[in-house]
Amino acid sequence: MARSAYETTNHYIEQAFDILELGETARMALITPARELRVELLITKDDGTMGHYIGYRVQHDDSLGPYKGGLRYHPHVDIDHVRSLASLMTWKTALIGVPFGGGKGGIQVDPRSLSHAELERLTRKFVDAIHDFIGPTVDIPAPDMNTNAEVMSWIFDHYSRYHGFSPGVVTGKPVGLHGSLGRNAATGRGCVFALREVLAHDGKKLSDVRVAVQGFGNVGSWGARLMAEQGAKIVAVSDIEGAIHNPDGLNIPALLEHVEEHGSVIGFGGGQALDSTAILTYDCDVVMPAAIGHVLTGANAKDVKAQYVLEGANGPTTVEADAIFEERGIVAIPDIYANAGGVTVSYFEWTQNTQQDKWTEEDINARLERHMVAAHTSIREVMEQYGITMRKASFTLAVGRVRAAANLRGFQ
Ligand code: NAD
Repeated sequence: MARSAYETTNHYIEQAFDILELGETARMALITPARELRVELLITKDDGTMGHYIGYRVQHDDSLGPYKGGLRYHPHVDIDHVRSLASLMTWKTALIGVPFGGGKGGIQVDPRSLSHAELERLTRKFVDAIHDFIGPTVDIPAPDMNTNAEVMSWIFDHYSRYHGFSPGVVTGKPVGLHGSLGRNAATGRGCVFALREVLAHDGKKLSDVRVAVQGFGNVGSWGARLMAEQGAKIVAVSDIEGAIHNPDGLNIPALLEHVEEHGSVIGFGGGQALDSTAILTYDCDVVMPAAIGHVLTGANAKDVKAQYVLEGANGPTTVEADAIFEERGIVAIPDIYANAGGVTVSYFEWTQNTQQDKWTEEDINARLERHMVAAHTSIREVMEQYGITMRKASFTLAVGRVRAAANLRGFQ
């Protein structure tokens, strides 16, 4: 039977528990979320009728710092997904070395079914319901799928009505409202640093590789743009509408203009149409899933031609696909490392907010690079120590750090 998102995450954590030889109580403590909020949200819709929605916030672990993680507005948001994503955040923050724990939340809603005013009312209702459980030193939400800087502005504003001026309650705010330079590009930029480090270890450069990217939103488009700037050839790109390819390399600046104008990659003159399902098995060196979870499965992993899987998305690889990659010697650069650039620059935003300071973009990018390079070095050490894959090493390192912090804090 197919594993749920939470079961997939737990499978990867269990592998780390086995490597670290943890006992049953420690395993339970590290797997179980500390708190789960489920709230009912009623709003008056523009036509006077009532809208009824369910919101979630899962706070997984705060041994290393306040809970940290995004808010997703999507019809598929449910407790299983939110638990899985909250847990991933615990390991991601520990791995990348920022002083946060892990949390995640969201509202089960298709935001396209709401007007702009309804979306704002729903967001403010959510803050009414959870404001006593979040805060700059408690739990700091951020954007995720279908939430953005504007939604973060509403949360900051509404939370501040209850608790006083608190820009540090959310990250991913607009630069004009205590947001950080560099946040928008941060996840894609972090992916490129991760890939560069992995390639360098294998004696290769970005200019040596051909890349296929699934998803051309924030992460995929920034990743593609920055990889292309450093000489990589982006040979195929997809979004929810369809896919395009050009074996000689797509002109990414021109593609970005096309997407800006038409809202999708389809119809781009500098490439040919491609069946969307072919993107992940396209003939290339690096495949970058940067859309949704569970897209690399037991069914398609054996057909992947790339040597590297760069996980821009959260949870794109099922347990079955991961085993196939390991067997085939394909390097999966795991989500908790590859896409950690976003939370790293979120940490920089929070630090600037709490210190009433403003850093330059150059400084932010240089600090981000240091975090990504340092994490790569630490992951490599664990890979070599145990003779394990990059994913297993990343989880092992992260679990070990959280476990050590929890022990140091004590349990009384
Ligand atoms: P986004 O909404 O900006 O972009 C998503 C892209 O994926 C869009 O181009 C959309 O058309 C495409 N897409 C959606 N469903 C698809 C499908 N079935 N097939 C092909 N393409 C599809 O989202 P984003 O912020 O870029 O996030 C993408 C992924 O990266 C998510 O898994 C998210 O959790 C993860 N992530 C994002 C950040 C961040 O800072 N934005 C940080 C860490 C992880």
